[in-house]
Amino acid sequence: MSGLTLRNIVLAFVGFFLGGAIIFTAHSMAGAPAQRTHMKTTDQGTPRYSAAGYDITRLSAERVNQLAEKLTPEQRRIMLDKGTERPFCGNLLDNKKQGTYCCALCDLPLFTSGHKFDSGTGWPSFFTPYDKDHVATEIDRSYGMVRTEILCARCDSHLGHVFDDGPRPSGLRFCVNSESLVFYEDGEELPPGAKPVQTATAYFAGGCFWGIEYHFEQFPGVLDAVSGYQGGRVENPTYRQVSYEKTGHAEVVMVTFDPARVSYRTLLRAFFAMHDPTQLNRQGPDIGEQYRSAIFAADEKQLEEARDYIRTLTEAGTFGRPIVTQITLATDHKFYEAEEYHQDYVARTGRACHAMRPLSELPE
Ligand SMILES: [Zn+2]
Repeated sequence: MSGLTLRNIVLAFVGFFLGGAIIFTAHSMAGAPAQRTHMKTTDQGTPRYSAAGYDITRLSAERVNQLAEKLTPEQRRIMLDKGTERPFCGNLLDNKKQGTYCCALCDLPLFTSGHKFDSGTGWPSFFTPYDKDHVATEIDRSYGMVRTEILCARCDSHLGHVFDDGPRPSGLRFCVNSESLVFYEDGEELPPGAKPVQTATAYFAGGCFWGIEYHFEQFPGVLDAVSGYQGGRVENPTYRQVSYEKTGHAEVVMVTFDPARVSYRTLLRAFFAMHDPTQLNRQGPDIGEQYRSAIFAADEKQLEEARDYIRTLTEAGTFGRPIVTQITLATDHKFYEAEEYHQDYVARTGRACHAMRPLSELPE
């Protein structure tokens, strides 16, 4: 019985152990390709990352106050009290240099010289932001007008407004106060707040990659999770090959994370909360080598940490039965990204997949 056959029939399997339950659901392969989602809608304080790889976690009011100490009174009036500078007066209006325009409060890159144009309005104008996740918008009904205010997505500082009379290709005009921006010319050293996150990578196989990918996408400190194939002998495998042929590949999720916000050990803990590592070459109704439990360590340090965490789980008796998770080095096994229709599958279809146990049920 192949895993694919089972997957074409939507069925649910409930595996009980130790009083807890993990629910596995097999799914049909259907699903229209869709845009990858990067932006997460999360609360203040929860780590958020932009598509460009920046930490855009909302700063606390305390941190904003701290950073605001360096602002001039005019910057405070504009950025914190939503003021507007007089037209044709800003120091960046006529700036033609190549470089990046960052938030004057938190240094997040907001616009680039490549998107700047002369709107004739008297304020620096851009047709698109540096990254759409970096600029937030809000409806502004002040002065008897309905306008769209733009704010720094990380520190919530007022930047200006956006109008729909801009040039192509966006048709938008981001009208920004010079006082809200700090310009860094290309080649100039950027402050830490203007740099993207130094990320690390981890690879996990725990049955159908749809559910594993979904849970890692949601996990605090994770920038991105991508479904793929790893550990086999065939180059550039297709889903069909992995499902029907003996490729040796496992369904794997590549996790890009921020080590400053989440440790590899915490990701290991999450991984074991997402699947049952005592099932050999299967995960619930999904049967086959491609559904094996495996960790592909990015380096020797991860390898040791993975072994150590499995020892901890074994000593704690968390799963009651022997853990069969394979551990190998990712450097010996190239990761191949899966077809587009497998990415963000659970998020797009709304289908429940692996249910995740509370982390508190697993040792730290
Ligand atoms: Zn900011």
